[in-house]
Amino acid sequence: MSSVFHRIPKRHLPVAVKGDGMYIFDRDGKRYIDGYAGGACVSCLGHSQQEVIDAIRHQVGEMAFFHAGMFTSEPLEELASILTTDAPEGLTRVFFTNSGSEAVETAIMMARQYFVEVGDPRRKKVIGRRSSYHGAGLTGLSVGYQVARRTPFEDISPSVFHISPCYEYRGRLEGETPEQYGLRTANELEQAILGLGPESVMAFVAETVTGTTSGATPPVPGYFKRIRDICDKYGVLLILDEVFCGLGRTGTLHACEQDGVAPDFLTFAKGIAAGYQPIGATMVNQKIYDAIVGGSGTFKGGYTYSGHATACAAAVAVQKILRAPGFLDHVKATGNVLAAQLKDRFAQHPHVGDIRGRGMLMTLELVENRETKAPFPAALGLSSKIYQSAQAKGLITHAQSGTVDGHVGDHVVICPPLIAAQENIETITSLLSEAIAIALEDVRAKAA
Ligand code: PMP
Repeated sequence: MSSVFHRIPKRHLPVAVKGDGMYIFDRDGKRYIDGYAGGACVSCLGHSQQEVIDAIRHQVGEMAFFHAGMFTSEPLEELASILTTDAPEGLTRVFFTNSGSEAVETAIMMARQYFVEVGDPRRKKVIGRRSSYHGAGLTGLSVGYQVARRTPFEDISPSVFHISPCYEYRGRLEGETPEQYGLRTANELEQAILGLGPESVMAFVAETVTGTTSGATPPVPGYFKRIRDICDKYGVLLILDEVFCGLGRTGTLHACEQDGVAPDFLTFAKGIAAGYQPIGATMVNQKIYDAIVGGSGTFKGGYTYSGHATACAAAVAVQKILRAPGFLDHVKATGNVLAAQLKDRFAQHPHVGDIRGRGMLMTLELVENRETKAPFPAALGLSSKIYQSAQAKGLITHAQSGTVDGHVGDHVVICPPLIAAQENIETITSLLSEAIAIALEDVRAKAA
């Protein structure tokens, strides 16, 4: 019997022993195609990339780690230089963490320290969005809004005000254009700032394209431009969380490029070292860096393993592959194939209400009734059945019950490694279609 305290103890977990390209093999020799990039976009370059393995081996052999507060290292400097060279406008500095949760927490702490340093300590309130995920620590859980995960901790977490997500399928009114919907939803930020008192608000946090809470949900055109304008008008810092959607996943290096905005902070994790090593990062603009360095001189956050040399060496190798000529074109092209195949297979499906996403980050939203968009009751556990039947068929996917305030529908997120070839996409969508059919039959039998 396992003595590990797994996060979902009741789920039967096969033992993974090998990864190879698009595949994972378990101890019994069963092969699974990875439709979820190793668990939420890690291993975005597939399993067993030789350049990354070599870079890790080399760095461990030279010097695995030394505290980056005492010595900098070549991979650390090189990684920072790569990330800042083609960052969104103004993001000139990067602080390393070990995870996405820490990257978001670091951004929030830096935002607060910035206002303290510039003599405006009244600014301490954070605004987030419902239906979002920003990490599993108390800060991430309170800024994010995954109801089931945050509820036990609400009384001991920082209080955060939440506005509506930009979730066109559920939020756009009849007769409203996507642009009008985007403006209306973004304007909730202005109302929230005015309600809380503009002098007290320090930051707004959002995922550029949401990852999991209600599936992969891209913003409508113009939404983030309006958000940026509102933040500028009231002096509120904009934190975009691209832990899930950043670094190539949406077909461009940064998801926010496609929305024409640059935030004050940009967070990454999964795509930096593609899961070969744990590492996250917070990019920050020069104004914030100058205020902290020119003020008290040091950022008060940071972790022992920030800037870990071996993690940085892995990340350098990954970032070079991402930036190699043609790589992002391949991601865009494969993303188009994925979207087209999902539409071919599911556009007429009686229980697929929406097919959405961006690049290699797509979602199917399953509903009981396409006309009314009514979800299957959460108690039927449709998403968990899809997950199980896909796994039985040798497909790793991510299916979960979506939430805004409560259950809104079952979502399947499809985000294969970025190296996927067209035939891999065909296999993934065809296995998914079989898995969904089995799960729906099961649910119907249970409901009858
Ligand atoms: N932000 C987003 C958008 C995420 O998707 C995640 C992880 N799923 C996190 C933050 C937290 O990252 P980690 O699990 O590496 O702490």
